[in-house]
Amino acid sequence: KEEVNIISGALDLRKKKVKDVMTKLKDCFMLPINSVLDFETMSEIVKSGYSRIPVYEGSRGNIITVLFIKDLAFVDPDDNTPLRTLCQYYQNPCNFVFEDVTLDVMLKQFKEGHKGHMAFVQRIEEGDGDPVYETVGLVTLEDVIEEMIQAEIVDE
Ligand code: ADP
Repeated sequence: KEEVNIISGALDLRKKKVKDVMTKLKDCFMLPINSVLDFETMSEIVKSGYSRIPVYEGSRGNIITVLFIKDLAFVDPDDNTPLRTLCQYYQNPCNFVFEDVTLDVMLKQFKEGHKGHMAFVQRIEEGDGDPVYETVGLVTLEDVIEEMIQAEIVDE
């Protein structure tokens, strides 16, 4: 029974798009680049429970890098380190994907893995002038695997 579910889930990856499984931008835990890594900010990061935090400049749609929780290992909250300093040091790349990309293609990209297992989902706004890209959410390998096995993965 479970095997049948997994196989049909795997076949359905071709029918579903990243926008169907992404975490919407408004629900993302993110930090502005001008944050200070003081005790309060670092506690909030730890409390959020996420291992990767998108970092934006100006508006939330303008994601410029990702902070990994492990990057905080040597940060002392008493030093009030600017987040910008840490981000400039690690320069973690971000991966962008269009909202209409299907999950089989997304899975393949994650497997190739040069940019990690998180991608920012973009929508193209067609207007009168040049098309504008808008970031609408994020998707991770876990979101794709949950679709494949047709079940929620309960986080540790
Ligand atoms: P983590 O390693 O932080 O637990 P996962 O890749 O296991 O992240 O993803 C678990 C779920 O949390 C997925 O649905 C993913 O879209 C979502 N997620 C991951 N990072 C964030 C974040 N910074 N803010 C909001 N949701 C997130």
